[in-house]
Amino acid sequence: MSGSRKRREEDRSDSATGTPVSPPSGDLKAENEALKKEITALKARLSERERLETSLKESDEKFRNLLQGTHEGIILNDDEGVILEWNTGMEEIIGISRDDAIGSTIFEVASRCVPESSDAGDGGKWLSAIIDTLDMTATSSPSSPPLEIAVKHPDGTQRTIEAKNFNYTVQGRTFYGGIIWDISEPKQILESLAERDEELENLIESSGDAILLTDEEGRITKFNKAQERLTGFAAEEVLGLPAWEFQASRSAPEGHSPDPLTWYKQVWDRLLHDENDQFYREIVEDEIQSTTGAVHHVQVRAFRIPTMKGFRVGAIVRDITKQKQAERGIHESEEKYRSLVELSPDVIVIHQGGKIVYVNPAVTKLLRTTKKPEDLIGMNIFDLIHPDFHASVEQSTQNDLNGLPPTTREIQVIRGDGSVVTLEGRGTRILYKGKPAVQVVIRDATERKKSEQQLREYAANLKRSNEDLELFAYIATHDLQEPIRGIVAYSQLLLAECKAEHSPQTRKYLENIARDGLRLNTLVGDLREYLRVRSGGRPFVPTDMETVFSDALNTLHREVTESQATITHDPLPVIQADSSQMTQVLQNLIANAMKFQQKGIAPTVHVSASSLDGMWQFSVRDNGVGIPKGYFEKIFILFERLYPRDTYPGTGLGLALCNRIVERHGGRMWVESEEGRGSTFYFTLPANPPESSV
Ligand code: ADP
Repeated sequence: MSGSRKRREEDRSDSATGTPVSPPSGDLKAENEALKKEITALKARLSERERLETSLKESDEKFRNLLQGTHEGIILNDDEGVILEWNTGMEEIIGISRDDAIGSTIFEVASRCVPESSDAGDGGKWLSAIIDTLDMTATSSPSSPPLEIAVKHPDGTQRTIEAKNFNYTVQGRTFYGGIIWDISEPKQILESLAERDEELENLIESSGDAILLTDEEGRITKFNKAQERLTGFAAEEVLGLPAWEFQASRSAPEGHSPDPLTWYKQVWDRLLHDENDQFYREIVEDEIQSTTGAVHHVQVRAFRIPTMKGFRVGAIVRDITKQKQAERGIHESEEKYRSLVELSPDVIVIHQGGKIVYVNPAVTKLLRTTKKPEDLIGMNIFDLIHPDFHASVEQSTQNDLNGLPPTTREIQVIRGDGSVVTLEGRGTRILYKGKPAVQVVIRDATERKKSEQQLREYAANLKRSNEDLELFAYIATHDLQEPIRGIVAYSQLLLAECKAEHSPQTRKYLENIARDGLRLNTLVGDLREYLRVRSGGRPFVPTDMETVFSDALNTLHREVTESQATITHDPLPVIQADSSQMTQVLQNLIANAMKFQQKGIAPTVHVSASSLDGMWQFSVRDNGVGIPKGYFEKIFILFERLYPRDTYPGTGLGLALCNRIVERHGGRMWVESEEGRGSTFYFTLPANPPESSV
C-alpha cells in the first residue's frame, strides 16, 4: 500500500515540473531493466497486498462467525455509545434484532430493557448505574464475578443475565464491549434446588421420627430435633463424630462382644461398604437409653443416599415405646380377661347367632355334663335351653346385638342329667375374631332365689312383729291411761280433803303426785297419737292445705292471742293427704314456732309452699330462739328435747310425730336454723303420693 502511494506522488511531481524522469537516452537498456525490476517488485507488492487482504477477510469472517455462533451475547460500541456489533446471542437474550440495534445508541436500547421492578428510573440512568458497577468490579479485581442484572424482554418476561465489560483502543480511539449470559434458567433451577433443600431440611427437622445422616465415611452430618429428643444429645455435640463412636458412647448392646465400639464399628464398616447389608433390607428393633436415663424402644430403618463418591448412610429411628406399652397393656389385659374367664365360677358363653364359639370350664359343673368345654363349641345354645324360653332368649340376643343396655333375665336349661335348672344371665355384644358375637354370663339362680325368698319371709315376719309391738304398745298405753287417770283423780280428791292439820309436806307430795300423774297422762296420750299415725291413719284424699292451715290456727287460737303472734301464709296447694294428720303437722310446727320464742319479741310465723321436682315443699319459718347446729337431726327423735320442762313445756314427741306423718305420706322433714335468729322447718310431700298405707 505504501508503494503505490509513492508512485502517485512521483507522477504528481513529474507533471508539476515537466521534466522527464527517464534515464539518459544512452542508457535505455539500463532504464528498461530498472523498469522491469520495478514492475516485478510492484507485482510482488500487489500479490502481498491481496494475500493480506484475503487473510484479513478470512480472519474477519472467522471473528464474525465466532461472534454469531456463540450463545453469549456480545455488544461492541464506540466511545459515543453507538452500537457497532450486536450478535445473535444478543438478539436471543435481549430480544432486539441486530438491524434494530446496530447504529442505535446503547442508551436507546437500554430504555427498552429496563425491568418493571427497577427503581433506577429511566433507561439512561439504569444503564449508567450498571456500567459504573461493572467498571468498579472490573477495577477492584480482574477475576471478580460477573454482575447479575435483571432485564425486561420484549415478550414481557423478565430475565436475569450476567454481564462483563471490556474496552480496547484502536488508533487512539476507545471502543467498548460487553458479554452477557442468560442465567434465568440456571438461576431458576438453583432457586428451586434451594427451595427443595429448605423443604427437605424442614421435613427432616419437623419429622416425628429421629433422623440421622452421615457422609460417605460415616461421620454424622445430620441429627434432627427428634434425635435430640430421643437421645438427649444436642446436634452440635454429635455433628462430625463417626456414627459408631456416638452409638458406642450412648448404649452398650447386650450380648455383643468384644466391646461396644468394636461392635458398632464392625456394623458401620459393613454399612459403608456393603450396599446389600441386611440393615438396608430390614427394620431392626432396638432399645436406646437417653441421657436422662429413659429407655426407648425403637425401630430403626437404614437407607443409602448414592453420591459421586459412593453413598451416604441415613437412619430413621421411630420411638415405639408407647406402642410397645400399649401392646403390653393389651397383652396383660388379655391375660387378665383369659384368667378371669377361665377361673370364673359363672358360666361364660360366647355365641354367634346361637352357635357356641367359646365356653369356659365352669359350664361342666353348672350343666352337669360329662362333655369338655371344647366339645360344646359349635353346638347351638337353643339345644340346651328349655323350649319355653326360646322366644325370650331370641329376643334378648337381638337386644344384646343391638347394643341395648344389658339386663338380667332368667332362663331354664336342661342339664346333662336331664334335670331342669333356673339360671340367670346377662348378655353383651362383643367382637369375637372380628365378628359380632354375644357374650353371656350365666349363673345358677337357685341360691339367689332361695335367699330372696328368705329375705321376703324375714321382712314379712319383721313387719308382723313390728305391728304386734305397735299394737301391744297401743293397747298398753290405752290400758295405762285408766290407772293414771285414777291416780290423778284420787290425788286431787285427797288434796281437796287435805286439812290444815296436815303437814305442808303431805300437801306438797299430793300436789307432785297429781302433777306427775297429769304429765304421765299427756305423755301416754302423745305416745298413743304417735302410734296411731299408721294404725289410725285415714286414706289420702284431696286436701286443701289452706283449710288445714285455718283449722290449725283455730285450734291454736288461745296461744296466738296470748303470745300476740303474727301468722301469715302464701297460697297453699291442694294435695293428696290424710287431712287430720296434715292438721297435726301444721299445728305442731306453728305451736313450736310460737313456743320457742325469744323473750320480749312477738312471734312472727310464715307458712309457704312451692312445687319442686314432682314434690310439694312446705316451710314454716319463725323468728324464735333457733336451734344449735348439732341438734338439727336429734330433735326429730322421740322424746328428744333441748330445754328443761320448766323453760319450755312439752313432751319431746311433737316433731317425731310430724316426721312419722310426713314419712307415711312419702315425704321427708328437716330444719334449717341459726341460734337466736329463728328456724325454718321444711317438709316435702309428693304431688302424687303412694297409696296410703297403715
Ligand atoms: P316439744 O315441743 O314437746 O319439746 P318437739 O318434738 O315438738 O317437742 O320439739 C323437740 C325440740 O325441738 C324442742 O324441745 C325444741 O328444743 C326444739 N324445737 C322444736 N321446734 C322449735 C322451734 N320452732 N324453734 C326452736 N326450737 C324448736
